[in-house]
Parts: sequence; C-alpha cells; structure tokens
Amino acid sequence: MEDAVRLIPLSALQHYLFCPRQCALIHLEQQWAENRYTAEGRILHERADRLGHERRRGVHTAMALPLASERLGLTGVADVVEFDEREQRAIVRPIEYKRGRPKAHRADEVQLCAQALCLEEMLNVEVGHGALFYGKTRRRKDVPFDDELRALTLGVIASTRALFDGNRTPPAVYEAKRCDRCSLIDACQPQVMGKQRSASRWLARQLQSLDE
Ligand code: SF4
Repeated sequence: MEDAVRLIPLSALQHYLFCPRQCALIHLEQQWAENRYTAEGRILHERADRLGHERRRGVHTAMALPLASERLGLTGVADVVEFDEREQRAIVRPIEYKRGRPKAHRADEVQLCAQALCLEEMLNVEVGHGALFYGKTRRRKDVPFDDELRALTLGVIASTRALFDGNRTPPAVYEAKRCDRCSLIDACQPQVMGKQRSASRWLARQLQSLDE
C-alpha cells in the first residue's frame, strides 16, 4: 500500500514564512505555547468561527469553512468565504481575520492565496481576489491573487512540504525582531542554541587542526 501523503495545515505556511524552525516545532514536534499575540489572534478567530452562515443582499457568507487540496496536500479552515451571487456566476472570496495591522512581509497573503487554491480545486472556479481584515485598523485589505502571489505561495508550499518530508527541525537562528515576538522562544532557546553551535564549530576546528 502506498504511504498516505502527509497533509500540510494552511497555518503551517504562515509559520514557515515566519520561521521554518517555528513551523517544525509546532507541526513536527507538536510544541505550542501561547503569548499575547497568539491569544489575541485566537480570540479573533473564535469570534469569526461562532457566526455560522448568513445571506445578505445577494451575498452568502460561510464561516469556518473546511478547505482541502488533494493536488497540493493542504488542509485547513477559512475564517470566512463570501459567495457573491449577484453576478451570473458566483464570485468566491476568502476572507481571513488577523490581529494587528498589515505587515511588511507577505505571510498573511500567502495563507489567503493558499485558501484560494483550495477553493479553486474544490469548487472548480477561479478565485481572483480575497481580503484580509485587520483587528487594529478594522479595515479590509483587498488581496488580488496575481501570478506573483500564486508563484510565491506555491514556492512556500513546496518548501513546507520539504520540511515535513525531511521530518527534521532546523537549527535556531536568533533574530531579535522575530524571536522576541515568538511564542516558542522558551522552548526554542535561540540564543543558547546559537552559542552551542558556535562552540561545536570551534571544537570541530580545533580537532581538525590537530589532525593536520
Ligand atoms: S525563537 Fe526565533 S528561531 Fe526560535 S522558533 Fe521562534 S522565531 Fe524561530
């Protein structure tokens, strides 16, 4: 019997872009810790999940919609998917709730685009746009799924797939701006791990020089 393909949760793509080690700690080692940032994000998602379904002025809104892509080996849940039925062919639009405000990196857009790829495969439609709703600004940001974002998303899916298939947690690389916001900093200990690796490299160099 063929081995079943290990499905990648959509959230893992965002974790991978934030830090591949964080992605491995959460999804390969099942480590999780909550901090202020993750707690605020979870509360926002729980609010979205509670609402169910509604139809208003020709737009059907589904909350907490399960998603999957057999082709890409993805699984997850969309906060909200709008089916705008005012046109002849319904326009499908995923919407994701995020704490904070729009960021300089594209992790939120990649996660949303991966949702669009799942919806396209599940519903056999083209999904041209989605939106991110940020808690701090209380504004929707329109996200077009153009060729560049689709290529970036497929690249992140491939890298995350390689991480899952390799089943190995990458070493820690301490970056204050990133690590000081990371809920797994206590489990990861990036500064200690970094020093241990430098010490190992120093020792290896010393042993090599003795052989020469
Ligand atoms: S503490 Fe830093 S290196 Fe460790 S998992 Fe978090 S972001 Fe990655």
